[in-house]
Order: sequence, then C-alpha cells, then structure tokens
Amino acid sequence: MELYMSTAEKHSFQAEIQQLLDIVIHSLYTDKEIFVRELISNAADACEKVRFLQSSAQEVRDSEAVLGIQISSDEAAGTLTFSDTGLGMSRESLVENLGTIAHSGTKAFLKQVAEEKKADASLIGQFGVGFYSAFMVADRVTVDTLSHAAGEAAWRWTSQGTGGYELEPSTRTQRGTEITLHLKEESRHFAKATEIESIIKRYSAFVPFSIELNGKRLNTVQALWTRSRNEIKDEEYNEFYQFIGHDHQPPLLRLHFTADAPLAIQTLLFVPQMNLESMGLGRVESEVNLYCKKVLIQPKAKGLFPEWLRFLRGVVDSEDLPLNISRETMQDSALMQKLNKVLTGRFLKHLDETATKDPDTYLKFYGEYSRFLKEGIVTDGAHKEALGKLVRYESSTLEAGTKTSLADYVKRMPSDQKEIYCLLAPTREAALNSPFYEVFSSRNYEVLLLQDPWDEFVVEHLDSFDGKDLRLAEKADLDLTEAKSPALNDEQASGLSKWLKETFGERVNEVRLSKRLVDSPVIAVDSNKHMTASMRRMMRNSKRDGLGLESGQCDFEINPSHPMLGQLEALRQKDAPLAAKVAEQLYDNARVAAGIVEDPRETLRRSNQLISELLTARQS
Ligand code: ADP
Ligand code: MG
Repeated sequence: MELYMSTAEKHSFQAEIQQLLDIVIHSLYTDKEIFVRELISNAADACEKVRFLQSSAQEVRDSEAVLGIQISSDEAAGTLTFSDTGLGMSRESLVENLGTIAHSGTKAFLKQVAEEKKADASLIGQFGVGFYSAFMVADRVTVDTLSHAAGEAAWRWTSQGTGGYELEPSTRTQRGTEITLHLKEESRHFAKATEIESIIKRYSAFVPFSIELNGKRLNTVQALWTRSRNEIKDEEYNEFYQFIGHDHQPPLLRLHFTADAPLAIQTLLFVPQMNLESMGLGRVESEVNLYCKKVLIQPKAKGLFPEWLRFLRGVVDSEDLPLNISRETMQDSALMQKLNKVLTGRFLKHLDETATKDPDTYLKFYGEYSRFLKEGIVTDGAHKEALGKLVRYESSTLEAGTKTSLADYVKRMPSDQKEIYCLLAPTREAALNSPFYEVFSSRNYEVLLLQDPWDEFVVEHLDSFDGKDLRLAEKADLDLTEAKSPALNDEQASGLSKWLKETFGERVNEVRLSKRLVDSPVIAVDSNKHMTASMRRMMRNSKRDGLGLESGQCDFEINPSHPMLGQLEALRQKDAPLAAKVAEQLYDNARVAAGIVEDPRETLRRSNQLISELLTARQS
C-alpha cells in the first residue's frame, strides 16, 4: 500500500454523507453488529447481479469464479475482511456509490435522526445506507475492488470516516470486492472467531450464496419460499424477513402461498411493522424481488404489484418467467399483468382473512397503512370491491375509537334504510353536532364518521357496497318521519321562501323547505349533486382557482317547524328592512356552519348592526 501512497488522490465526501458518517461514528452505540448484515447483504447483492448477467448470457470477467462470500478475522491485528466474487466496482462506481448521495435514503435517514433526536443503528439498512455502518466499528476501512467489466482496472478506496476518502490503484486480480475493517479499540471483540461466527449465522441463514468464515462454511444455501409452509418455523420466517427487509422487528403480516394455475408462483410477502412513508422516507419503493427458479430476475420488480401496495416486501418466484428478458419489456408484458392480478387479489384476500381471524392485528395494519388502501380505491378501479371490504370507520352508534367495516354496518341497517350514510367532519363531536346529522339521529340511522379528507373521494369512488349506495350525509334525500308541528302554514311557507329568494337574489340557486332539519333553523347545501362543502374547501386549499363556492351554487333550506322562521315571517309583515337583515344573517350563519365563508368581516359587521338595533329597540 505504501508503494502507492504518492499516487493516492484525495476526495471529500458530499456534505450529507459526512453528516451521516459523523452520526454513525459518534452517536450509534447499540446494535453495532448490524454492520455484519449490511456488508454481507451488499456482497450478496453483488453476487446476485453476476448471476443475473450470466443467466442472461452476458459477458463477465472471471466467469468461472464461484459466487460466494469469504470472511476472515484476525484477532491479533484487529481486522475483519469481507470478500466476495460479485460484480465489483469500477473507479466511477466507487466514487458514485461510496461517497455521494446516490441514494435518496441518506437525506431521509438524516431527517429521521433529527426528528427522533436519537439515532437508531437498525434503521441504517432500511434507509439504504448500509455500507457506512462499517464506521460504527472501524476507524479505517479499505475497499479493494475489480469490476466485472472487461477493460476496467482494480481500485482501492480508503477512508477513516472523516476528512474524505482516498483512491489509488489496487493490486486485486480477481473480480469482486474485498472490504477490510480496521476495528476500533472498543470494537476489537468482533474479530474474535466465536463472536463473529455467531453474528454471521444470525444474519445470513438465508443468503443464497455460500458464506465461509476463515475457510469454514457457515450457511446452507436455501430459498425459504420454495419450501413447504408447514415445515417452516415462525422464527425462520422472521429471520428471513429481517434479512431481506433490513429490519430489526419481525413483520406485521406475512403471506406465504403457492399456486399452480393460472401461473406457477411461489410467493412470500411481508408487511413491515411501521409505515416508512409516515416516518419521512418519502415515497417508498416496492421491495418485492422477482425470481425464476431461485435466480433473481429483477430486484424491486416494477409492475409486480400496483403502486398502492408499494409497502410490500418479499419474493415472488415464477418458473413461467423467461430468464433473459429486459426490464423494460418485462414491466409491461402480459405475463407481468397476469402476475399482478393474481398476486394483488391474493394479498387483498389475505387482508380480509386477517381481519376476521385476527382483528387486532388487522386494525394495527389499518392504522399504519389505511392511506394506501384509500389510494387504491381512488386510483385503481380494478380492486374496488375487495378494497371496500377492508375500509374501517368510526360510527355514530359505536363508541368513540371503535371502527366498523361496511359489511357490519350493512348488517345493522334497519329494513327501511336503503343507503349507507357517511358524514365527513374534522372530529366526532363536530359530526354529531352538525345540522346534517339531525335527520339521521331522529330516524335512528347509523352514520359512518369520516375524518380524513381523502374519505370523501373514497366514498365517491367506492360508490356502493353490497348493493347499497354510499351516500354523503349532505347529499341524502331523507324525510323526517314524525312531522313536527309547523311554525308556518303552507301559504306562509311559500310566501317566505319566495321573499327569501328575492332577498338573496343570484347568490342562491334555490330556497326550499327542508326535510332534514330538526333543531337548526336553516342550512346551506351545495347545489351540485357531486360536490360538498369539504370538497370545495380542499380544492380551494390546494389553490385551484375557480372551484370555491360561487354565487348560485348553493341551495338554502329552511326548517318550517322552527319557531324562528315563524317569527321571521311575522317580522317581514311588520318591518321588511329589518327582516331582510335578519335573513342575511341567517344566510351567513348557514354558510359558516357549512364551512364555506371566505371572508367573515361582512358577517361580523352586520351582526354588530343587528345587536345595536336590538339594544335600541329594547331601550325605547
Ligand atoms: P444499498 O445496498 O442499499 O444500495 P449501501 O450503502 O449498503 O446501500 O451500498 C451502497 C452501494 O455501494 C451499493 O448499492 C453498491 O452499488 C455498492 N456496493 C457496496 N458494497 C458492494 C460490494 N461488496 N460489491 C459491489 N458493490 C458494492
Ligand atoms: Mg446495502
């Protein structure tokens, strides 16, 4: 090495990488041993890539070299070496992979650490920055590598984790990569053969290449998914998941299934405990790898599942796949679509079964991942029916916090109820106090309480469930059963309605007698059958012009049984100008209740004026 010292070029790390390394070096104290998993995982990836190139008849250097991973430990020298016969790296890929933020995970990891105010070593692999975990235990790391591509020279990368890295020519003559860790004083115990052996065994049982420690074979290569379900233990599944998912927790859900028709498939799927998107990782990518007879065809295969199932991890192995097919053709091949259909259907069925057999686990899943299911309903009509079975909502007749399925709601429906009613409001209290709820409570109809703004689109796209229409409360066409004693007779009611329409002019589309109100005097309803106030609000918030409620787009309903309207009719006969002011105020109040008042200043001005007239009238 000294020989080349003079020719070593110095490079600095990109700022984010240096930041990441500072955290790795100074703040990660627990789970240090995961660096073993990460380095083995990288070596295995590199071997998989060679196997893929070979299976698709592409040229690689040293094509006869056996794919595998050799680890050696030297307790006296305090070093650990991970060597593989994988893909290797050219000078260019060394610079790109080990020093720049080629991975979006770097930023997400830094953000997570900043938010949690503590760093968690076990996250490092999940965020795709596993290589740097070497610096938890080593104060110097060298990487000697020779690329599979003919014409590339061997290179050595050296770094102490701070102050950048050096590049110089390497003496390596075989394809692949050798990573040497010069262990820190307090981490020297990792070079003890017994200790490193037990760690390797823990993390690498499922690596599909041979792993040797100091010349001794440690693992037996196996593809878990090809074995029969009843001979696999839970721990084996969990270890397998933890290895492929870089996760320190067991999975939340797993599905292992095999099918012969319409396609021969062996599949092992997992759902992580945590929704990584909600942890600030940005949009996650599906991590389901596609195999054909245990040969990796495509890591993170695109198109295998719909986008909205991108939180899945695992393996799909199908012997019906052609080995040497390019990724582009694969992605939209008919075969891929067929796989997608079968796999998605099977996974949704599994969710439904879990909901029945193990409701607690299902609700935990729903708590983490409901947004993905809703995305599926809104963006993908193909699985609407299966997804409809999976949504869960709070309801007016169940305790706060308890969620129901649509199927259970339908079972509870009284015989005279024809539709499924949903009310969207920011809180349970707001919903139950809303004028829109009055007609339902007086009829004893259960109402689903929706709180996520997305739910409105869910209702719209699901459209119906089990033959019953889903109906937003605002759009329900319901009569009150018990007729209340009216405060207005028919003639007065039609006179008042006509006068109100004249008073409001173009601002309202129609004034009519309400069939839905019990305690409220008036209500404003969107004239557009397909719109609701909250939808307009969302559109306005997303700054799309012209979608706010404009004049003539709302209907004004009055409650003929409410005493206030009897009094208004009487006032109109005596003092029409004052009655008009009161009517304006009622109009504004109704709009406030519906959440569609853009500028409340005019309302306040009028309200103050009314108060002042009231006070004057009382004094005179
Ligand atoms: P990830 O494995 O998630 O991509 P890492 O930080 O573990 O992230 O590794 C960064 C990159 O460095 C890898 O994507 C790969 O391109 C390269 N790399 C690391 N180790 C090896 C190796 N043993 N052989 C070939 N390339 C490697
Ligand atoms: Mg890695």
